[in-house]
Amino acid sequence: MRRDAAEPALARRLRRAVHRRPELAHREHRTAAYVERVLRLFGLRPFRPAPTSVAVVAGDPARRPRAGFRADLDALAVTETTTVPYASRVPGVMHACGHDGHTAALLLLARRLARAAPWGGSALLVFQQGEEAHPSGAPRVLRGLPPAVLPDEFYAVHLWPELPAGVIGVREGPLLASVAGLTFHVTGREGRAHGTRSESGGVNAVAAAVRLYTVLTSDPTGREVGAGQGLALGRIEGGEHPNRVPLRCELRGTLRALTFREQESAVRRIREVAAAVADETGAAVEVLVEAGIRPPVENAPEAARRALMACRATGTPHKRYPDGPLGVSDDFGWFLQDRPGALLLLGCGNGPQPPDLHTSAFDFDEEVLLSAVDVFDALARPGTANDDEVDDGDRRTRLDVPAHRGTRPQSGDRGLRRAAGSPG
Ligand SMILES: [Zn+2]
Repeated sequence: MRRDAAEPALARRLRRAVHRRPELAHREHRTAAYVERVLRLFGLRPFRPAPTSVAVVAGDPARRPRAGFRADLDALAVTETTTVPYASRVPGVMHACGHDGHTAALLLLARRLARAAPWGGSALLVFQQGEEAHPSGAPRVLRGLPPAVLPDEFYAVHLWPELPAGVIGVREGPLLASVAGLTFHVTGREGRAHGTRSESGGVNAVAAAVRLYTVLTSDPTGREVGAGQGLALGRIEGGEHPNRVPLRCELRGTLRALTFREQESAVRRIREVAAAVADETGAAVEVLVEAGIRPPVENAPEAARRALMACRATGTPHKRYPDGPLGVSDDFGWFLQDRPGALLLLGCGNGPQPPDLHTSAFDFDEEVLLSAVDVFDALARPGTANDDEVDDGDRRTRLDVPAHRGTRPQSGDRGLRRAAGSPG
C-alpha cells in the first residue's frame, strides 16, 4: 500500500474546499484555478485543454502515458440541505453528484505520482469541465489535449451510494446508457373554415402530436431500450390561437440506450412510428435525432480486468458490479470513443438508506476516495503495486531505500493550506 499518513486528512481538505464553492457546468473558473494551484504545489505543470478544464502529465514527460484518468469539475443546480460545516456557500448550486470527490481523488493521485520515484512511465490526469451539461465538455477537452499526451487507456470513477463505502465496482462491457435528443416537428393543415373541429377540414397538429406521443410511449420501442428509461418525452408545445386549428406542434424528449446498435434500432423504430402516425392523421412529422449527447459507456474487457487486478494488488475491496448495465449516463463515453478504458463505481454507501446522487442531502465520507486513489495509482504504475505491502525479508531490504519520497520537498501539504486555500 502506498498510502501515507497525510492522505485521509488531505482527502477531506481537498474535497471540502471544492465542495464549499460549487460551480455550474462550463463555469468552473474558481475550481479549475484551485486545481491548478494544488497541482503546482505538488510540483507538477498543469495546462488548460479547454477554458475551465485542467490536465497534467505526471511521471516521465518523454514517455507517452499508458493510462489516463478523468475527473469532472462541475456541480448541479441543487440547493444543499445538509448542515455540514463544509456545505455549499453558493445558493442554488451544489456538488450533488460527487464530482468534488472525483476531483479530490485525482488530486491525491497527482500527489502520489509526483512524489513517486521515477517508474519509467507517465500518466495523464484530466479535470474536465461540463460533465453534466449539454453540450458536454468532454469532446472539447479531448480536442484540446496534444496527441503526445493521449494515453492508451482512460479510466474514471463515479461515487456510488448503492455500493458499500470504499468498495470498487467493476463491470466488463456495457455499463451506462447513451443519451440522444429527439425532436418531432408536427405540421398540420388549415381547414376550409374557422374552428378547431375536424369538419373544418384541417389537420390538427396538436392532436397528431398527442397521437404520436401515445403511440410512442405505448410502443415496444420504449421497453426495448430498458424498461421505463428508454424513451422520455418531456415537452410538448403547439398551437397558435385558442380558436383555430393548430398548425404546428413540437414534441421533445430523450432516448437512452446501452449500445450504439441498440440506439440505432430504436431510432429506426421511432421513425417508423412517426411515419405511420403521419399517414394516419394527415399531418407532416419530421424527426430530428441528436445522437451524440452522451455516448454509451462500454467498459473494455481488458481494461476492466486490469482494474480488477489493480484492486487485488492493492488489497482494495471490490466486486463485479453491477450485474447488468445501468440506465443512467455519464459523458465519460466520449473518452472511450477512440481507445479502451473503464468507468469504475466507488461505493460511498453509509447505512441502510444513503442519500442518493443528485439529491440535496448527498454527502459521503472522504475516506472512500483512497480506494480510488490506490487503484488508479496501481493502474498508472503497474507492476510496482505490491512493493510496499510485501513483508518478506528480501523485499523489506529493498524498501529501506526511501523510494517514494526522495526528491520532493516535504512541506508541500502545509504549503497547500497556505497557498492553494480554497476555490473561493
Ligand atoms: Zn456525475
